[in-house]
Amino acid sequence: MPPRRPDAAPRFWETARRLVAVHPDFVSVTYGAGGGDRATAHRVVATLLAGTPVLPIAHLTCVGASREDVSEVIDDFLDAGVRAFLALRGDPPRDQPDWRPPADGVHSSIELVRLLREVEAARSAADPSSALRGAAHPLSIAVATFPDGNPAAGTTRAQEVRRLLEKQQAGASFAITQLFYDADSYTGFVAEARAAGVTIPILAGLLPTTEPARLRRVEELTGVVAPSRLLASLEALDDPEARHAYGIARSVEVAQAVLDAGAPGLHVYTFNKHRPALDLLDGVGLLRREDPDLLAAGAPGVAAHDSRPAVGGLAPLGAAYRADASAPAGG
Ligand SMILES: Cc1cc2nc3c(=O)[nH]c(=O)nc-3n(C[C@H](O)[C@H](O)[C@H](O)COP(=O)(O)OP(=O)(O)OC[C@H]3O[C@@H](n4cnc5c(N)ncnc54)[C@H](O)[C@@H]3O)c2cc1C
Repeated sequence: MPPRRPDAAPRFWETARRLVAVHPDFVSVTYGAGGGDRATAHRVVATLLAGTPVLPIAHLTCVGASREDVSEVIDDFLDAGVRAFLALRGDPPRDQPDWRPPADGVHSSIELVRLLREVEAARSAADPSSALRGAAHPLSIAVATFPDGNPAAGTTRAQEVRRLLEKQQAGASFAITQLFYDADSYTGFVAEARAAGVTIPILAGLLPTTEPARLRRVEELTGVVAPSRLLASLEALDDPEARHAYGIARSVEVAQAVLDAGAPGLHVYTFNKHRPALDLLDGVGLLRREDPDLLAAGAPGVAAHDSRPAVGGLAPLGAAYRADASAPAGG
């Protein structure tokens, strides 16, 4: 999540360095609906790309933007060498009941996936070196999916299964789930998606459940309800270390269950905090040895503090795959 303010930048880059040092298969960088953090998101992705060995995935939203604007943002990312995107619609502004999308806009993630493929194809047709890059590093386009339906959008699981099939048909390479608290949410959804014809990898999105305030805030943002027993158990623990340990243990149970059920890997919602993410991965045996060069202050790229003003993104993220699973296309 790009730093919102200049004074948040040093801590942001420290977190990024910690995550990158354990070699996740990718880190993804959020992008605010409306594109208010466009410049900061671009700088963060470009810095990760230039200064680390880890694949950055650029989130991209389209809600409220014209086709021309979105094409320009895509071009900017492609010019910087970005080859992996998470194509999202984003949510319309909540405080504007009369809000209507622009007539010439890109109205859904499905239209955005198609537009990404179109822009890439046009660049390849216009320029032989772009065509070569495309052949050597095919564009990887992830999409979001919602195992229990999307409460924020009022959709059911069955609608989201159909929606995911449409996203796949539009050209999506793999999917990342919304966070969930019960392994059955993931396994049930994947079973229905496979039965419906979805063949792309479906990566399990997990939030380390260490902070009750975070769980409540995420519920406000996404509509995904935190289990009341989990909240009560966390809140009953006054000692922060005991709460952390309890929350990690609960998250590890869920993570292990989905991995045992065949999940290709985990996408950890970090909310720009490294310790819960790394402890969760450690708990399921996915933590790779830290790279001392990338941890050292002064490491290339990630050590550079971007202190220019910035505004918010939405979600969080670091990712790790099982060592025996293949990375997404182009990754
Ligand atoms: C992993 C992940 C990362 C995210 N990162 C960001 C981020 O960086 N920035 C950000 O702003 N937001 C982010 N979001 C939130 C996301 O933008 C919202 O949840 C948004 O409401 C849905 O996005 P989408 O790409 O699935 O939209 P779409 O697939 O385009 O769906 C949009 C709308 O279509 C409708 N719809 C769905 N299914 C059907 C159907 N079967 N028939 C008819 N209509 C249907 C729904 O009303 C839905 O609201 C993220 C979500 C996830 C899960």
